[in-house]
Amino acid sequence: MKYCNFFEELEKLKLSSQYRSFKSIIARNEKYIDFEDKRYLNLSSNDYLGLAGNKDLCQNLLDSLSNNNILQKFGLSSSSSRLLTGNFSIYDELESELAKLYQRESSLVFNSGYHANTGVISALCKRGDLILCDKQNHASIIDGMKLSGADFFRYKHLDYQHLENLLEQKRDKYKQAFIISESIFSMDGDKADLKKLVDLKNKYNAILIIDEAHAFGVFGDKGLGVCEENSLIQDIDIIIGTFGKAAASIGAFAILDNVLKEYLVNKSRSLIFTTALPPVNVFWTLNIIKLIPELKEQRKHLNELSNALRNSFQECGIKILGESQIIPAIFGDNDVTVKISEKLKYQGFWILPIRPPTVPVGTSRLRISLTAALEWDDIKDIASIIRE
Ligand code: PLP
Repeated sequence: MKYCNFFEELEKLKLSSQYRSFKSIIARNEKYIDFEDKRYLNLSSNDYLGLAGNKDLCQNLLDSLSNNNILQKFGLSSSSSRLLTGNFSIYDELESELAKLYQRESSLVFNSGYHANTGVISALCKRGDLILCDKQNHASIIDGMKLSGADFFRYKHLDYQHLENLLEQKRDKYKQAFIISESIFSMDGDKADLKKLVDLKNKYNAILIIDEAHAFGVFGDKGLGVCEENSLIQDIDIIIGTFGKAAASIGAFAILDNVLKEYLVNKSRSLIFTTALPPVNVFWTLNIIKLIPELKEQRKHLNELSNALRNSFQECGIKILGESQIIPAIFGDNDVTVKISEKLKYQGFWILPIRPPTVPVGTSRLRISLTAALEWDDIKDIASIIRE
């Protein structure tokens, strides 16, 4: 049979409870999603500030699109790469706003976090360079390193002694060295020690790239991430953030110096060889970016909810990881994790199981992802349902 290899692999995935498929969501609001004939509390989205399903914001978007004649001015699609005719003035406005917020020289917008990581890393890191990267970094970082041609090594998760040992052994053998880490890790919900990473990058003359995908909007007084929380915005060479999570949009950005922006515009393949985001969308992102610094109450509420849920898990003796709005409850076994997820679904909670290869074998988990739209009453029973 023509496709028998693929068929066999799919069968293996099914047998090991690792098979994935799309679920077709019929509708959503701030808290809930409708799937088939039932409504579920959505605890699997990255909409950390609770903005994406907010009906008032949806109406604001429609009003401001029409008040500013965005569709009349720019049309529906950018219809080409930013280097051809896809770079509408709204892109420059968004990039200026981001640079101003971070008080840094420049920013560069990409089509997604995946494009940003693959595009930045593969363009800047070259054969003869060294990349040291946290073992738990996201797939887009791994793919960027693979595309780069540089030698890369993964240090043990959050183990900065291991990182320093690698720097000591290897730094002198390479031209440029890069250290890459997430700030809040997407699957473990834990936090990198950015101060330590900045010290190491200074000591070993390296370039530091921090991915704030799960921290942008959530951490720091203005929501600029863990780098803001630690007053390190000026010390990190490149800060990556995404618009598809707390910012209720799509796309991503890099905060960086002018020369790096200029270099990436000339060399970053995921920026050059793709159609730019629709101007309508860039306009929407700009509106949200202006709003995010004001959402201090939402950040405080989200933090309180996260602490309360973490405490209730601990009281029920359920193993959890991390210290953020991402709360992974670890069960280890794939089948057990899937069954608990099914039970929670029956009770109206949408919490999908996360299994290998997304997480290491033996650490299958339910990844509970909280948003500021939730109330304690919505989630207070989860730990006791799992304990049963
Ligand atoms: N970086 C990290 C740490 C992520 O977790 C993700 C997505 O989950 C991305 C980058 C990719 O971002 P995007 O969804 O905008 O492509």
